[in-house]
Amino acid sequence: MLGTGAALPDPDRAQSSILITLDNGKNYLFDCGEGSTRQMVRANINPADVGWVFLSHLHYDHICGLPFFVLSSWVFNRDGQLKVYGPRGTRDFVDHSFENGAFKVDIQARAAYGVRQKNIEAVRPLVTEVSPGLIYQDEHVRIYVDLVDHIPAEITDCFGIRLEAEGKVVAFSGDTAPCESMVRLAQDADLLIHECTFPESFLAHRAKSGVGTYSHTSPLELGKIAARAKVKQLVPTHFGHFDSTSPVIKRAAANHLPIDLMGPDMLDEVVRDLRKSYKGPISLAHDLMRIDL
Ligand SMILES: [Zn+2]
Repeated sequence: MLGTGAALPDPDRAQSSILITLDNGKNYLFDCGEGSTRQMVRANINPADVGWVFLSHLHYDHICGLPFFVLSSWVFNRDGQLKVYGPRGTRDFVDHSFENGAFKVDIQARAAYGVRQKNIEAVRPLVTEVSPGLIYQDEHVRIYVDLVDHIPAEITDCFGIRLEAEGKVVAFSGDTAPCESMVRLAQDADLLIHECTFPESFLAHRAKSGVGTYSHTSPLELGKIAARAKVKQLVPTHFGHFDSTSPVIKRAAANHLPIDLMGPDMLDEVVRDLRKSYKGPISLAHDLMRIDL
C-alpha cells in the first residue's frame, strides 16, 4: 500500500496507490496519486522497474502522481514504453502531460543529452483505454475491470479491478458507493482492498451540506460487501482524512467535514462498523503496509 489517503494533502498518508509485485519480480501499479513514486522508492522498488499502470478513474488523487512517476523513471533509465490502462480520457490526460503539454520544456531540455535521448520512449507511455471485461493478460496475470458507482457516467467511467495471479485473487475498488459489481469482482478473493472513505457520520454530514461527492462506501456498507463476496482478507483504504490530527486539514476542511469528530479514535468506529457484518481478518491500511499472499 503505497498511498492510503484521499483528495486532501495529508501529512500522514500519500494519495491512492497500490503496488503488486509477483514472485517473478514483475511490478503492477494500481493508481498513481501524489506521493506514489517516493513511496515506491521507500519500499525499495525502482520506479523504472514498474512496467504497467492501471488507473481506476481520473480523479486527481488517483492520477496526479503519474507525470512525476513517468519523468523520474525516464531519468532512472526506464527501458522502453510504460503501459498505461485506464478509462476513456486517459489518453487525453497522458498526451497533455509530456512532450505535447505540461512538461514539454523539461523534456526538450533533458532530451538534448544523448543518454536521455536514448530512452526517450520512456516519456511516451502506451495508453490503452479500456471498457468492462478482461483488460490485460500475460503469462503471469489476468486483470478484469467493471464499472463502479462514483463519478456520473456522462463525465467518465470509474472502475473496480480484479487481478488473478499465481493462484491468488486480489480485488481493488477504486472509489465507489456500495455496488453489486464490486461484490462480483471480489467474489472469493484472497484479498479485497476497498475504499472506506467516510464513516457514517461523515457521509451524513456531506449529504446534508452538499459539498463534494458522497459516492463513497462507509465501513458499515463495506462490511456487508466483504461478507457477501466471502473475501478471505479485507484491507480498507482511501481514508478521507477522518483520522487526521492535522490542524491545517481541520481548518481547511471545516465546510467539508464534521471536524469536531476527526481524529484517530474514528478508526475504532470504522472497525466496529465493519465487524457488524464481516468476521474475517481486517487490516486498516497505512502507507507502506506490506501484505504477503
Ligand atoms: Zn479518491
